[in-house]
Amino acid sequence: MSLLEDVDVRIFCPDCRGKFEVIESDLTEGEILECSLCGAEIEVLQENPIRLRLSSGGDYY
Ligand SMILES: [Zn+2]
Repeated sequence: MSLLEDVDVRIFCPDCRGKFEVIESDLTEGEILECSLCGAEIEVLQENPIRLRLSSGGDYY
């Protein structure tokens, strides 16, 4: 069993512009995150540097 370190990364929600934390291992390209403040779906476009885009409900991929 491998123990992955859960590193929290603080990101800005592109929708409500609030700051919330995600686990670094969730920050992978193409991953959809959910804003813990407004519930918006946020797509990770790029890991480093972090670029995020608001996902508009998954109508296109
Ligand atoms: Zn938000």
